[in-house]
Amino acid sequence: MTLAMRSLRMLAIWAATALAAHAQPIEPRLQVAELSPGVFVHRGVIEDWEPANEGDVANLAFIVGARCIAVIDTGGTPEVGRRWRAAVAAVSPLPICYVINTHAHPDHVLGNHAFQTAAPGADAEANPQFVAHARMPAALAARERYYLNALQRDFRVDLTHGDLVYPTLTVEVGQTLEIDLGQRVVELTAWPTAHTDHDLTVFDRQTRTLFLGDLLFVTHLPVIDGSLRGWVAAMDRLAQRPVALAVPGHGAASRDWPSVLRPQQRYFDALLTETRAAIKSHVTMQGAVKTVAREATQGWSLVDHFHERNVTTAFAELEWED
Ligand SMILES: [Zn+2]
Repeated sequence: MTLAMRSLRMLAIWAATALAAHAQPIEPRLQVAELSPGVFVHRGVIEDWEPANEGDVANLAFIVGARCIAVIDTGGTPEVGRRWRAAVAAVSPLPICYVINTHAHPDHVLGNHAFQTAAPGADAEANPQFVAHARMPAALAARERYYLNALQRDFRVDLTHGDLVYPTLTVEVGQTLEIDLGQRVVELTAWPTAHTDHDLTVFDRQTRTLFLGDLLFVTHLPVIDGSLRGWVAAMDRLAQRPVALAVPGHGAASRDWPSVLRPQQRYFDALLTETRAAIKSHVTMQGAVKTVAREATQGWSLVDHFHERNVTTAFAELEWED
């Protein structure tokens, strides 16, 4: 190699390195699959909400109408929200008219920020409506400090109160709100306390797709943050509905309705029966968490993260029942 060639080569390497250093990181869009016509779903990983997975753990979805798009949940960080919005834009140029939050848990709502296109008050028309259960704003407010701290401490993301997007449209408990995406009507139902005290389900009439949020867990152990008895009752009502495709908050979507509910029903049955038995025989809560429904956890993921907490919640709920 001549000296000239060598310096040319060095120059090429230097240029490539310099370019790489200054290049904007390419933001990969979240992966989506069209599970039914106009129904797109992103699968989160079956893990807890944590920096290792960038908070991308909840299933996210959107429905495309003739006029506009409804997005269902937004991901566990503003960054996931940006990647989610890019995925929506890559599928359709239509505007997003609704951003629906199934409930206030961080993996479902912290991407909201990426969907707020105009500053609040500046041009409200340019923003989608943010829709949730009527009790969701209070739940988000109660958790807000914890979310902002966890984002800063664990995810190294600085957000303030103003960056958290609260609903602009809410659905009262027991009510169903119909929204029209253009030749496509979607029903939003606000449930009594179950997974949380503010669960909202979404039903696309055209394809009979039911988006259950965290009223349904598949593979990922269900997490009770509301009421075990309320959740069992909600599942009994849900099972009556004619559903062609069920999209859970975590785990694979399924056309096996209502049998896709069964593993969760079995786990809850064991929790109810064995917690009641423990209370009746004066086992302490500390004792109960070590023994109750252990067998029923077989086949589920994240048992170590959530099972003892579920028993604690069930115990507190059932201790004072008639
Ligand atoms: Zn949840």
